[in-house]
Amino acid sequence: MIRLYDTMTREKRPFVPLNPQRITMYVCGPTVYGRAHIGNARPAVVFDTLARLIRHEFGDNSLVYARNVTDVDDKIIASAEAEGVDPSVITERYERFYLEDMGALGVSPPDIAPHATQEIPAMIAMIATLVEHGNAYEAEGHVLFSVPSDPHYGVLSKRDREAMIAGARVEVAPYKRDPADFVLWKPSADGVIGWDSPWGRGRPGWHIECSAMIRAHLGETIDIHGGGLDLIFPHHENEIAQSRCAHGGLPLARFWVHNGFVDMGAEKMSKSLGNIITPNELLERYDGEVLRFSLLSAHYRQPLSWTEELVKQSKATLDRLYRSIFLPGRAKREVDIDPVIEALKDDLNTPLAISRLVEVSKIGRNENIIEAAALLGLLQRDPQQWFKGQSPRSVGGVVKGQIPLSGSATGSVGPSEVGIEARIAERAEAKANRDFATADRIRDELKAEGIVLEDGPSGTTWRRE
Ligand SMILES: [Zn+2]
Repeated sequence: MIRLYDTMTREKRPFVPLNPQRITMYVCGPTVYGRAHIGNARPAVVFDTLARLIRHEFGDNSLVYARNVTDVDDKIIASAEAEGVDPSVITERYERFYLEDMGALGVSPPDIAPHATQEIPAMIAMIATLVEHGNAYEAEGHVLFSVPSDPHYGVLSKRDREAMIAGARVEVAPYKRDPADFVLWKPSADGVIGWDSPWGRGRPGWHIECSAMIRAHLGETIDIHGGGLDLIFPHHENEIAQSRCAHGGLPLARFWVHNGFVDMGAEKMSKSLGNIITPNELLERYDGEVLRFSLLSAHYRQPLSWTEELVKQSKATLDRLYRSIFLPGRAKREVDIDPVIEALKDDLNTPLAISRLVEVSKIGRNENIIEAAALLGLLQRDPQQWFKGQSPRSVGGVVKGQIPLSGSATGSVGPSEVGIEARIAERAEAKANRDFATADRIRDELKAEGIVLEDGPSGTTWRRE
């Protein structure tokens, strides 16, 4: 049984799909006008891992995974104008880069990748339904969703009205009946990309895109809707309002799954702060699997601090795993990989799964370890290529079959961040089960290794002594 934390109910619940033969998952995809940064890669990797787990549990053909491409947007239009090219030049270029970067991180393409520009009729149809139901109105070439018309509005973000209005970043728009109302359709000036509609030539707002494409490709109610934490409000709240009101109150998704931010130590990564790190730059120095490992080293709902140290530790641990599993001459031994899979089934606890993978790889090697690693999208490289790809310093110039068995490639001291995080997760699990003896033992063991844990209101933090 897979258990998932549902943002809607704010609890971990058993994941029971509506139809186990056709499980539906939709994740909000990229707006393609610039190179993806490492924060954008996190949902791609997290939901790719969840897709692997679902297929493992329910069967290869059990899941339909859709991730959209937003290829009409004001930022795209601005980029196209700046370069003096058609918007499609911008969107095709950055979609290709996105797929290349994510591919390098072992992210499989989704089953369906609907493009907003290809789905305009479905959006117009849904907007027309909302107008008909009294949930939307036309004003000065715009169509707006009427937030007061939906008594359920706010159900996901649980914000009060004041916070919602503040969060909606209200622009001065005299045609809005209510400050919280949001755009479903807006007019396009001459020379700007647009489509004919009952409300004149224009283009869709961002939120309606996802609601309409989910309906068109997956149905009225899907099993899992995913995305980054920052999408809860207003984007997902608006998707819910549109879909519920268009579909007679049916819920849009049965599970809402959100991943946490990637930050740069203290700062959140953002274009305006100029501290963006892209997979593209990192891939010049590291194999994509190292970046994937780093992204999975923290639990997906926790913030992840992206540091050079994290990437180095990830590489060192992966190097050890490759050696343990693929080094010729190591005796094959039956190992139990269930603990690895159980960790993943518990709300995708990837740090715990990785730590258990490392543990079983010490016992012996067996095909099923590789299978378990594949669920994380790890150990997917040709081992000989992996060993060759290492810098001469880290393998000491040895050749095939003579790779050193022990010792860290980067000479790190003390337990790795991944290992520490995994043990903190294990301790939290023990505490939740009121197994305080185990919780205390883990704390004492870490203390002996020079790691001090501090329990605070927002969870456990750690520091090296
Ligand atoms: Zn969306």
